[in-house]
Amino acid sequence: MGPLRGDMLKKELGIFTFADLLNHFPNRHVDKTKVSKIREINLQTDYIQVAGTLIFFEVIGEQRGKRLVAQIKDDTGILELTWFQGINWVQKGLQEGSDYLVFGKPGFFNGKPQIVHPEIEIFVPAKAGGKAFLEPVYPSTEKLKARSLNGRQIGKLTYTLFTQLQAKDIDENLPPDIADRHQLMPRYEAYKSIHFPETIEAYHSAVKRLKFEELFIAQIRLNLVRLQRHQSSKGVVFSKVGNYFNDFYNLHLPFQLTNAQKRVLKEIRLDTAQGHQMNRLLQGDVGSGKTIVALLSMLLAADNGYQSCLMAPTEILAQQHFASLTALLKEMPIEIALLTGSTKVGQRRKILKGLAEDSIHFVVGTHAVIEDVVQFKNLGLAIVDEQHRFGVAQRAKLWSKASLPPHVLVMTATPIPRTLAMTAYGDLDYSVMDELPPGRIPITTVHRSETARYKVMEFIRTELTLGRQAYIIYPLIEESETLSYEDLMQGYEQVKSYFPEPRYSISMVHGRMPVDQKEVNMQRFVSGDTQIMVGTTVIEVGVNVPNASVMVIESAEKFGLSQLHQLRGRVGRGSEKSFCILLTGSKMSNEARERIHIMCATNDGFKIAEKDLELRGPGDIEGTRQSGALNFKLASIVNDKALLELAKYEAEKLLEEDIEISLAKNLLLKHYLQMQKGKTEWSKIS
Ligand code: ADP
Ligand code: MG
Repeated sequence: MGPLRGDMLKKELGIFTFADLLNHFPNRHVDKTKVSKIREINLQTDYIQVAGTLIFFEVIGEQRGKRLVAQIKDDTGILELTWFQGINWVQKGLQEGSDYLVFGKPGFFNGKPQIVHPEIEIFVPAKAGGKAFLEPVYPSTEKLKARSLNGRQIGKLTYTLFTQLQAKDIDENLPPDIADRHQLMPRYEAYKSIHFPETIEAYHSAVKRLKFEELFIAQIRLNLVRLQRHQSSKGVVFSKVGNYFNDFYNLHLPFQLTNAQKRVLKEIRLDTAQGHQMNRLLQGDVGSGKTIVALLSMLLAADNGYQSCLMAPTEILAQQHFASLTALLKEMPIEIALLTGSTKVGQRRKILKGLAEDSIHFVVGTHAVIEDVVQFKNLGLAIVDEQHRFGVAQRAKLWSKASLPPHVLVMTATPIPRTLAMTAYGDLDYSVMDELPPGRIPITTVHRSETARYKVMEFIRTELTLGRQAYIIYPLIEESETLSYEDLMQGYEQVKSYFPEPRYSISMVHGRMPVDQKEVNMQRFVSGDTQIMVGTTVIEVGVNVPNASVMVIESAEKFGLSQLHQLRGRVGRGSEKSFCILLTGSKMSNEARERIHIMCATNDGFKIAEKDLELRGPGDIEGTRQSGALNFKLASIVNDKALLELAKYEAEKLLEEDIEISLAKNLLLKHYLQMQKGKTEWSKIS
């Protein structure tokens, strides 16, 4: 290939090497393995290849109507061919009486079969049976097409490459026992068959093999990171369960733990007793009771002589955590402190001193505050609430506060689909709470049109009369913040006209408000001073106002599923029946309709998360790590769930048996991993 086209290929498709070209997979194949008869063409025929004698051709029409028409004939009928472009060039290659092989998508004109712009070439008897493989068509770009590198022309390059390749050029990387168990074709064969399959079945087998390889290698890497941490990282040892934990558990725990809570505590207990650093992600649906798990873990730390910190994303949440932990611990000899941006200087000094001297056991605060200033005497456990991400840098800050790194427990804001968690967080240990405490009254969710707003407001009025509170949420879309800000203000005025002062009082929070005003308004709602909270999604995470029984979401079609679920999670937290009302306009996309439908159909955050993943794909899911972990070329965590499970299972089994990857059967894999080192995004993952 000349330098010009070579450069284009680099720029447009990132193809620099033979390996890149090999990994540029076709997006479809056309079947030229067969030569059909003209009589077989019918209205349903897709692409077809026929051979026949050229009996006639002529250029007809003028200017825009100018075209080249030709006819070929086999022993079953006549097919008309038409070209509107490249007439001169095509015409040069045509000769009456010669035999041609023709390929294209047929249509009918005046009841007669015809193909517009067919591919045409001189018929060579050797090709009488058609090509020996399905012809690949590759993704290309407009610029490449202009340089004669369209989807099929790229295939010519790949074909040439394959004529020079042998099986030894594409090393196997799967252990033979695994390949055998799942009938995966050899790597070379898979590459050959994904480009030039002899049959459609061979193509599918090739795709399966290569997808498995991708998922398997990813799982091996993620598990290696995790296992090596277990092996080589040193961590604080929580060797015993002592009085703090037991007294609280036996005397002050206000309810029975759910089985899920017990299981997760056990996982944490085992993990922290090993002498390596725990790095655990705890997933639980809204309301599944993560806070108490956090508290019991902190008591476990205290039993072993260590301090704990609990970090929340907002000041309100930190305050709420502090209040509920203080209440739960009021009979316990535990010192607990709240440290946020608004802690007064004198108080702050006292707290910092207490932490440095180890007279304070637990500190609750916002992420920033705890990370930046605090020096602990003896930090053993850091819990991060309502966040997926807790980056390397943040972790490092915590580590710098102690000689041994504290255990880290990250509690997520929203359930993550299992398959996504397996790939995006596979390097972390991971616990799931898929059970809600008993006795919850399920939230009823309904969809209403905006035209029914009056009725919805009247419904709110009856709930307020019963002494309850309500949220009314407006979408806030980043790009058009001004617009939604105006919407919000309008909405606020409207709500005020339904619920006039002084009979009613309303709080409002939104992203443009100064932080302290936001806090004040939020606090007024939390304390029951105001009955209605008008706001944007800034209220979405974690807030606990058990007396609120109605959640109205305006323009609900503009929200994503997980966001809707988070918002809905703000109600149904008390002993009263709660309602979520999704208001939408009448014009909705199908996808929006589907989202609303799912919200009305289920309260199960894990089901919603799966559906969200299906609708949006992994790239857009909130909190997803921007890492190589999800950039699969072929595999999809949405469509290849079963294969992913299989790859995970095999990867874990292999490492359990051979963590060094040094058994003879695994050497090809080891070699491959070493070759790939530094070539991928993987080095960036902590
Ligand atoms: P989340 O997982 O959303 O953070 P919380 O920890 O705030 O949930 O718990 C939600 C509510 O459920 C709290 O009022 C808490 O006291 C209560 N709760 C937690 N665990 C149980 C349980 N096992 N039985 C009954 N109520 C529980
Ligand atoms: Mg919580």
